[in-house]
Amino acid sequence: MDVVGELEKLPELTDSGRPAWQQPLLLLWAAGRAAQGLPRMALWLSVKDELNALFSQFRAPGDRSFSPDRWFIALAQTPFWEISVDADQTPAPGGSVSLSGWMAWRDPEGGLVSSAYHSLARDDVRALFSKEIAKRFFAGKSVADLLRLAHVDVEVSTEPRVQEALLRRVSRSIRVASWVRERHAHSCQVCGQRLMLPGGNAYAETAHIKPLGKPFNGPDAVENTLCLCPNDHTRFDRGAILIEDDLSIIDAITGKNIGELRTVSGHNVEVSYLAWHRDYFRNHV
Ligand SMILES: [Zn+2]
Repeated sequence: MDVVGELEKLPELTDSGRPAWQQPLLLLWAAGRAAQGLPRMALWLSVKDELNALFSQFRAPGDRSFSPDRWFIALAQTPFWEISVDADQTPAPGGSVSLSGWMAWRDPEGGLVSSAYHSLARDDVRALFSKEIAKRFFAGKSVADLLRLAHVDVEVSTEPRVQEALLRRVSRSIRVASWVRERHAHSCQVCGQRLMLPGGNAYAETAHIKPLGKPFNGPDAVENTLCLCPNDHTRFDRGAILIEDDLSIIDAITGKNIGELRTVSGHNVEVSYLAWHRDYFRNHV
């Protein structure tokens, strides 16, 4: 989904004319989860304390509705978010059932819809998304703090010169990704699948072997990029598949060799990044 374009549908002001920062803040938090590879959906009680602490930092004098619980539910009325209960099962605002009590009892799961989660897992998309949120909803707040929250590792300054550098970096990232996808004709380098969409378009994703940004600082270069289908992208990013220096693919769950990485002339993968990825997951899972 076009996560940046869809932001236009979020109201910038509340009914009382105050800046509506709650939904954008929840989206930034969720984008940060996507960046870290955390599960897309989260149980309310498992994230409640974290969200309460976060929301309390952004509360301005006179803000009502600074508690995250109602936003965790209400955001499901936007294209970005889903919850594990039907909207008509949630307590009506101002009704006889207290929302906080109901949430403690029902413990709903909430999270980004799948297409938004996968878009926001991408560094380049998340950078644009976070900047747009900072501009539209958090005028006067530290943009750098907001981007850190969303795990966007970019130098940010209000100086136009620095913003241009950021945009150049984002557009380079998009060029690298589309070059790799086109080089492989949108076929997955692990399973060979070419996912077709209506209109004759094929869909593929790109994965950075060594992640960009802190703390890993992988390069935004074609040698560090794979063309993958969404399933294999998730498997690779979460360490369920590992690739040996000879390009054989190992299923990390069974330990079995499940094939060989597909290659095309002109796109060479740097084996030292594959080694980094194997070592990282063999030491961290
Ligand atoms: Zn695949």
